Amino acid sequence: MTLGDPRDVVALKRDGKPIPEAELRAFVMAYGRGEIGDELAAAFLMAAYIRGLSAEETLAMTRAMVDSGRTIQLDGISRPTVDKHSTGGVADGVTLVFAPVAAAMGLAVAKLSGRGLGHTAGTLDKLESIPGLRTDLSPGEMRRQVDEVGCAVVAQTADLVPADGALYALRDVTATVASIPLIASSVMSKKLAVGTDLILLDVKAGSGAFMKTPRDAGELARACTDLAAGWGRRARVAVTDMSQPLGEAVGNALDVAEAVEVLTGGGQGRLLELTLQFAQQAGEALLGLDPGVARSSAEDAISSGRGLESFARMIEAQGGDPRVTEDPWAVLPRARVVVPLVSDRAGAVAAIEAEEIGRASVDLGAGRKRKGDSIDPSTGIVFRARIGDRLEFGDEVGEIHARDEDAARAAARRVLDAITVGQDSVEPPPLVFGWTDSGVPEGVS
Ligand code: URA
Repeated sequence: MTLGDPRDVVALKRDGKPIPEAELRAFVMAYGRGEIGDELAAAFLMAAYIRGLSAEETLAMTRAMVDSGRTIQLDGISRPTVDKHSTGGVADGVTLVFAPVAAAMGLAVAKLSGRGLGHTAGTLDKLESIPGLRTDLSPGEMRRQVDEVGCAVVAQTADLVPADGALYALRDVTATVASIPLIASSVMSKKLAVGTDLILLDVKAGSGAFMKTPRDAGELARACTDLAAGWGRRARVAVTDMSQPLGEAVGNALDVAEAVEVLTGGGQGRLLELTLQFAQQAGEALLGLDPGVARSSAEDAISSGRGLESFARMIEAQGGDPRVTEDPWAVLPRARVVVPLVSDRAGAVAAIEAEEIGRASVDLGAGRKRKGDSIDPSTGIVFRARIGDRLEFGDEVGEIHARDEDAARAAARRVLDAITVGQDSVEPPPLVFGWTDSGVPEGVS
């Protein structure tokens, strides 16, 4: 279908009227081809953000994004295939660990990832902090790598979901990220373009997520599972806690180093636990393992070193330097200034404004403020305080990795201000609120 005047599509949404499927499809495809300017697409996104999209419009938008490029079929791959995606959080490095762990368990991971979005860092930016590593694999290259190595994490390209690539970059810089239909269509277009046997989704809820409450995250889970069902695809979705950073690394190179540490057996916290839970779900669903056996298989992938080996093979296959898995800081870019983050208060950590920590990291150069900005992969934050911890004055709770002292000082202030401390002891929040195959997970209200 050809598009009439694209301003009419924006005007319909602005006025709260339904957009006919064909017109919405033509608009999205035209923007993906570069035939509509950013100003009009930004107006559409803001109208959609404020007015919302109906289930039919969300489906039409998702379908248009999938059809804007090629799809990747994985028939003929000898292992069961799985994809995993997070809706975005702070220090959320699960994918970097999950992909090689699942590969080591005998699964094949085929994943289209995103770049940093708003205050959240993106898996592609993290991986590209490894010198030489490419994420712009062609569909053929991706398929081959999934078959031979067991995992590939790649970007949207002109061939793969280009309309999501374009809209995603525009949402990042126009304050239009935190919308259930826009996130659902963006996430699911990437998952539906790759024909894996199972889609695993991590829908984040809390101060560092786009959905601030489990209830909203549950609605996002429902929107995503509805789209999967509409395509006849199997999905397993968790609503998980993002009321504090998940791991310790908030940046890009820092996240790769943390992933290596976890894969080397050095992790113990919530990042490791959530990764194991996702790997267990994949083992149960695709290998038919009992829960305990699936869990042991995931743990064994780490303790045996096979997960780390898979990570090295994936990095090498994508052109990166695999020595990063032996000695990360011999390979990764280091920030010029690294200063300790020192607590300026005493008491129990009652709350953490995780989005503020993500924003402080973006300000250090680890994320983008304008479309096309380059990022500085060496910068970011290491943040170790957790809800429920008791802090004393002078406790070292992390590090700031910055380009200069002024930037480090500003970030440290912002991060310390993001911590609320009280005198009463505080229970840490649950890690997972609930799992679902369709609709809102039980236990999420
Ligand atoms: N991940 C995506 O791919 N898209 C979003 O909108 C949010 C997280």
